Amino acid sequence: MKITFLGTGTSQGVPIPLCSCHVCQSDNPKNKRLRSSLFIEHNNLHVLIDTSVDFRQQMLRARIQQIDSVLITHHHYDHLYGLDDIRAFTNAQNKILDVYTKPDCIPEIMTRFGYAFHNGNLTIGLPALRMHAVKHTFTINHNSSSLNVTPIEVAHGSLNIYGYRIGNMAYITDCKGIPQSSIALLQGLDILIIESLRKRPHPTHACLDESLGFIDKIHPKKAFLTHFSHEIEHEELEANLPEHVFAAYDTLELIL
Ligand SMILES: [Zn+2]
Ligand SMILES: [Zn+2]
Ligand SMILES: [Zn+2]
Repeated sequence: MKITFLGTGTSQGVPIPLCSCHVCQSDNPKNKRLRSSLFIEHNNLHVLIDTSVDFRQQMLRARIQQIDSVLITHHHYDHLYGLDDIRAFTNAQNKILDVYTKPDCIPEIMTRFGYAFHNGNLTIGLPALRMHAVKHTFTINHNSSSLNVTPIEVAHGSLNIYGYRIGNMAYITDCKGIPQSSIALLQGLDILIIESLRKRPHPTHACLDESLGFIDKIHPKKAFLTHFSHEIEHEELEANLPEHVFAAYDTLELIL
């Protein structure tokens, strides 16, 4: 399995226009973050997690050639609002793409992007998507490749959203709390990818100490932090992390 970090930034991305802080002004490419999204390739299967608002730029930068399924964590702007641009793929691939998400996320997606879910003919000019509400482990199949995906419920402030476990990898973005039932589903991981917004606490996002606490409870072999604000400087963070924890950055690829 190959994993590509398409974006590792929080909702505003980094740099923020007009911000003069040292991270926004940094020349280090690892401090330049598009909005968070992950791409997974397993044999002939290509899975995208979230259609970030930077989707188009991310597809071009990573030279993505194919998408077979999309997993949506939640309906916030930064994670969803690139969805319309997926029509480049549904048109080129001439097929309807499957989108999987949490049942109570569907009305929010339909309000903004209902026109993309017509479950029938492929219409040039519109995305062609098929919605699936998922609650438990499900299987994605394509070209005789398959992946088991387990939704992992986490608390993003008062909103409960999904992370996803795929094999021995799990991806959890916006997350202030992880219930015990979800911690149980995250045991035995080789790689945990989890948000660490900044060092200061935030009401709906995990700060660094909280993220490291989650990692201690879940004890994966390795953990990668993501969904950073401009208060996180890559090199400074990386130098101060435990041995098995790493700071992700845009374009980072992992092979499992
Ligand atoms: Zn977010
Ligand atoms: Zn800044
Ligand atoms: Zn969010």
